[in-house]
Amino acid sequence: VHRLVIVGAGFGGLHAARALVGQPVEVTVVDQRNFHTFQPLLYEVSTAGLDPGDVAYPVRAIFGRAPNVTFRYARVTGVDWERRCVLVDAGEPLPYDSLVVATGATARFFGIPGAEQHARPLYTLADARALRDHVLRRLEEIDVDPERADGGTLTFVVVGGGPTGVEVAGALAELLDVSVRHDGFRFDRERGRIVLVDALDRLLTAFDADAARYAAATLEARSVELRLGRKVRAVTATSVELLVVDEHLRVPGRPGVFAVGDAAAVLRGPGGADDHGERHGELCPQLAQVAIQSGRHAAAQVLRQLTGQPLEPFRYRDKGIMATIGRRAAITQLPSGLVVRGTLGWLGWLALHLVYLVGFRNRVTVLVNWSWRYLSWTSGPRIIVGEADHPDG
Ligand SMILES: Cc1cc2nc3c(=O)[nH]c(=O)nc-3n(C[C@H](O)[C@H](O)[C@H](O)COP(=O)(O)OP(=O)(O)OC[C@H]3O[C@@H](n4cnc5c(N)ncnc54)[C@H](O)[C@@H]3O)c2cc1C
Repeated sequence: VHRLVIVGAGFGGLHAARALVGQPVEVTVVDQRNFHTFQPLLYEVSTAGLDPGDVAYPVRAIFGRAPNVTFRYARVTGVDWERRCVLVDAGEPLPYDSLVVATGATARFFGIPGAEQHARPLYTLADARALRDHVLRRLEEIDVDPERADGGTLTFVVVGGGPTGVEVAGALAELLDVSVRHDGFRFDRERGRIVLVDALDRLLTAFDADAARYAAATLEARSVELRLGRKVRAVTATSVELLVVDEHLRVPGRPGVFAVGDAAAVLRGPGGADDHGERHGELCPQLAQVAIQSGRHAAAQVLRQLTGQPLEPFRYRDKGIMATIGRRAAITQLPSGLVVRGTLGWLGWLALHLVYLVGFRNRVTVLVNWSWRYLSWTSGPRIIVGEADHPDG
């Protein structure tokens, strides 16, 4: 039987494996975590809107009944290209006939002094939980000693005016409101500052200019300070090293190896890398839909190879983009350019995230959580879970 190893159980790896359930392929999914993370809702965990378990789902539960898919809980440490096996930190290496690399992206600090220690990335569930603990601890400190606001304890700086930055800033503003209104914190809400910084002179560059102006106005109305056109000197934006792929998502020079999702430089349409590894054409953004579609495409190409059919080039089908700015405010931009915003955009955002969230239980708990918060005007689980072992708490 053809052995396929998929590294990573994010959107890309998960959808590649799902597309192969019941097919004549022996699939092994490897991940360093035993769960799939729904990254688009991490900001809700970091701002005490949802619990970590609401946005994660055990990989074993997803494929438990699939006869041809197994899960290996291990960190991949390398690939032996000659022997065609994946090296892992736990257990035997995994031999493969085909390999799909879906390892996603990670935050980088470029060695800038202070950045790694003091800035907090938002990429993993552990990041989100640490950020939530950090914010809630600051609120407790201010409650004990309100004068600490002068030293910046009540100032939260969000770097990056893309969808995640906008979402975090909007949700932080709500968290501060709720803390004073419902949780008996005695600090002056006026002294709580949320500052959103971006080097460009507008927010949400992927969206049309009107939609970005709406986001800026909504955030300002909710007391978020915008510092646009300003570069942060101490901390820079995040970046990733991408794997070059050809138009079929294969890694040139590595037979049987595909790369998908955030880890890959996926082109929007046919083009790909030439013999020298040069890429041509426009790259896809790092979005869940790109990971889902490229994961499914790689799985389909493995099957085509098996049945001797010619490979098909990948073509990204743009389904639009969305960003939420907080309660009853979101922007949905359709591929036609049409923008839906306000309450309607927000309801569309809620519905879509519920549809794509993995696991029925998660959908129910998130729906209940959101409905409760909407009706009662309170926030979600404002619980400090970790111990104060980080220098910044
Ligand atoms: C905070 C945040 C908000 C986002 N919001 C949106 C949004 O609203 N809409 C949208 O479309 N997109 C959004 N994205 C982007 C979207 O989540 C990513 O594009 C998508 O998750 C990429 O899928 P992936 O499968 O390529 O990688 P990931 O989902 O990152 O999965 C990679 C997997 O590989 C595993 N892995 C990595 N290295 C190893 C190793 N060495 N050994 C074993 N396992 C390994 C990881 O544990 C992880 O499970 C957001 C991203 C973030 C971080």
